[in-house]
Amino acid sequence: MVIGIIGAGASGMAAALAAAENENVQVVLFERQARVGRKLAATGNGRCNLSNLHANQGGYHGQQLDFADFALRAFNVEQTLGWFRKLGLFTVAEPSGRVYPYSDQANSVVDVLRFALNCGNIRQELGVEVTKIRRCENGFHIESGNRTECCDKLIIACGGLAGTKLGGSMAGYQLLRSLGHRMTKLRPALVQLKCDWSGVAALKGVRANCHVRILRDGVLHSESVGELQFTEYGLSGPVIFEVSRDACQGKGKWACRLDFLPEVSAQELKSELLRRTETSLPAEELLTGVLHNRLGKTLIKFAGISGNRPASSVNSEEIDAVCAVVKTFEISLTEPLGMDSAQVTAGGIVTSEFNPQTMESKLVPGLYACGEVLDIDGDCGGYNLQWAWSSGRLAGLSAGKGEP
Ligand SMILES: Cc1cc2nc3c(=O)[nH]c(=O)nc-3n(C[C@H](O)[C@H](O)[C@H](O)COP(=O)(O)OP(=O)(O)OC[C@H]3O[C@@H](n4cnc5c(N)ncnc54)[C@H](O)[C@@H]3O)c2cc1C
Repeated sequence: MVIGIIGAGASGMAAALAAAENENVQVVLFERQARVGRKLAATGNGRCNLSNLHANQGGYHGQQLDFADFALRAFNVEQTLGWFRKLGLFTVAEPSGRVYPYSDQANSVVDVLRFALNCGNIRQELGVEVTKIRRCENGFHIESGNRTECCDKLIIACGGLAGTKLGGSMAGYQLLRSLGHRMTKLRPALVQLKCDWSGVAALKGVRANCHVRILRDGVLHSESVGELQFTEYGLSGPVIFEVSRDACQGKGKWACRLDFLPEVSAQELKSELLRRTETSLPAEELLTGVLHNRLGKTLIKFAGISGNRPASSVNSEEIDAVCAVVKTFEISLTEPLGMDSAQVTAGGIVTSEFNPQTMESKLVPGLYACGEVLDIDGDCGGYNLQWAWSSGRLAGLSAGKGEP
């Protein structure tokens, strides 16, 4: 039996290795880029956050909320890490649950997969872009340029639109739609957010531990605590990725409320700042030693206090204003950055048209899909790659098991 797999990213490689466990199967793996796992090599800032110890407990989104459950249980986090260990990859989990290769290099993950793909019953077709798929009497025709290959079963593992420069594209959606599947609206998720506060550019590069609340017309949309990073045009960092899903989508006034000292109460902060007004410090140094210097000075200014005044001239109401700015700093949000900057695509191919226990299409027998092309996206922290491994493996095993 010949199984065609389109896409040699995370899910496609997992699918190929699973399908090839049946030695009667011949896998043909198509990848339009010159090498496998190009996006994978760029994940986690080059470290590849390949899973999360908490991914067995949820953290996934999509129109059909429970679609991912079976695959994630059938090949759970422990099994995934065991599988990687067998492939030769040592991994380490951070206290947050995020799992990384022990080498701290995403390339190590790509390398062990690449080595494993070099087995007798997997043929890799690199630099080959599949442009069309067609059903035929015994399976599928896979077209790339003027060449056509036949396979008995076909797995679409083309990924989503996010991360365009690393290979994200519409191809998977288009191929599946050509065989009758529907898709939901695509939105960027795990993405930076733009804001309209002119002061943000001056803070470019500053990192801060924050409690972030995203508000739509004053109503809480999402919240999280973690590291925020200011950029030239807005907000980034892991905590922003966590709250960014569907932020600034749809009508309403979107804002981000930041608490720069989530572990210190306003009262505690006020007593500390009042103590500082008894010193000979300039007012702009009131938050020195508390926050990043540049951030502290910006917030003092934002609270309406001119920096070159002596701290001793700052009164209690003005200290209240500083505390308010530190604990409830609000910025208007305009839009998320585009798909090319997003880490994952929210939305995708409608999952109710697939069997969650096999990843096989309910419309086209012998056709499978896995990974980000489907309408499943995960939280920040290794959830999306875990979905790619689990769904890819399930698709590969299911396709490799049955008779053509
Ligand atoms: C910058 C960045 C950082 C990220 N960091 C993390 C992280 O640390 N942890 C995490 O869990 N997730 C992370 N993600 C998300 C994660 O990388 C994806 O969710 C995951 O790679 C999806 O796997 P996939 O197999 O579905 O798609 P992909 O890995 O995107 O693979 C799809 C492959 O299909 C190929 N392809 C597409 N169309 C065709 C065609 N027509 N013919 C042939 N080949 C084709 C593409 O070239 C690509 O190689 C990150 C994403 C980005 C962009």
